[in-house]
Amino acid sequence: MSRPDLRARVEAARAQREREGLLRRARTCELTADGRRLVDGRVLIDFCGNDYLGLARHPDLVAALTRAAAIEGVGTGAAHLVSGHRGEHAALEEDLADWTGRQRAVLFSTGVMANLGALQALLGAGGLPGRGDALCVQDRLNHASLIDGAQLAGAELRRYPHGDAEAAARQLAARPDHAALLATDGVFSMDGDIAPLASLATLCRQRHALFYVDDAHGLGVLGPQGAGSVAAAGLDARQVPVLMGTLGKALGTAGAFVAGDDDLIEAIIQFARPYIYTTAMPAALAAATRASLRLVRADTDGRREQLTAHIARFRAGAKQLGLPVMRSTTAIQPLVIGSAEAAMGASRALEAAGFLVVAIRPPTVPQGAARLRITLSAAHSSDQIDALLEALGSLPGLGGTAAV
Ligand SMILES: *Cc1c(COP(=O)(O)O)cnc(C)c1O
Repeated sequence: MSRPDLRARVEAARAQREREGLLRRARTCELTADGRRLVDGRVLIDFCGNDYLGLARHPDLVAALTRAAAIEGVGTGAAHLVSGHRGEHAALEEDLADWTGRQRAVLFSTGVMANLGALQALLGAGGLPGRGDALCVQDRLNHASLIDGAQLAGAELRRYPHGDAEAAARQLAARPDHAALLATDGVFSMDGDIAPLASLATLCRQRHALFYVDDAHGLGVLGPQGAGSVAAAGLDARQVPVLMGTLGKALGTAGAFVAGDDDLIEAIIQFARPYIYTTAMPAALAAATRASLRLVRADTDGRREQLTAHIARFRAGAKQLGLPVMRSTTAIQPLVIGSAEAAMGASRALEAAGFLVVAIRPPTVPQGAARLRITLSAAHSSDQIDALLEALGSLPGLGGTAAV
């Protein structure tokens, strides 16, 4: 029997994606001086990024980055546990722990690595006997890296219908004698709605499961001092022992962290391979993130309020136009279109009108639920939002403009 050809197999899979019209492509999006995007020679207003507070190009962040780079250089040259851990990292970890009301935080280079690493460490129990027994219960719409993290750990993964705490309870009850972790996005990245955090926290306490919240899209924008969806729900470190956050969204830099009590964080440091075996993030990036965190917590410019006003403006306008908005109250305001083809068509039409709104297609979202994932930022102007609404209103087949 001859060995199957790997190249032929992966090429067949790619060709299949192409036939389905689901190929993806990285487009080069330069930044203009006024914060718009230059794409294929055209200037577009970006309504699909995650820079919710408009901090990514803030002068304080740029100054902190360049100041630190002048001293520290660019690369750290080693992993945190070797010689790559600098004062800026340690200070940022303390700032993040303080901000989120937890004993300790540990930095990761990206959010994907944080979820892979933390879940692998917590569920895998450092390779002790019993590894592979753990149960990991997750919302069906959780971020891909949470799903992958559970699989990397060799845990039994059970996914409950989106936002359904009772279904989560049944899944925990099905394996009463296995160590368990329940993980959810705080704000769902493709739908923009918020998890039933209080119900899930109660459930986890009753069923003795470790509760893990990925708040990539809540941190910076929700709750007092922007401390996120968990703080906004009035939950503390006892109720949500593990909080994961990313720095590349509302904080406008890059990287991620996991915060929790001393023992949990220490275990993650010992066992999370995506932490142990990777080069520490540039110290200048940590410095820029500390500058961002100061702006986020104080919010003297009223960026959160501005964002809230934009969300209300967009939703009111969209409803008036009969657009199929979802229940989201956050900066993520998706319009589900249906077929991947139709979503691509809508995206192209918006681009012709001067807006960058990339279509999100399967497998990132379920079949038949391709969408325009519109995101709002405090950096947008009200006029830009009105102009987007006008463009959406004139898209064929999107809601009932004519009926208004
Ligand atoms: C973006 C995102 C991540 C990954 O974070 P990166 O820093 O971009 O790797 C993880 N979880 C959720 C919910 C996200 O939206």
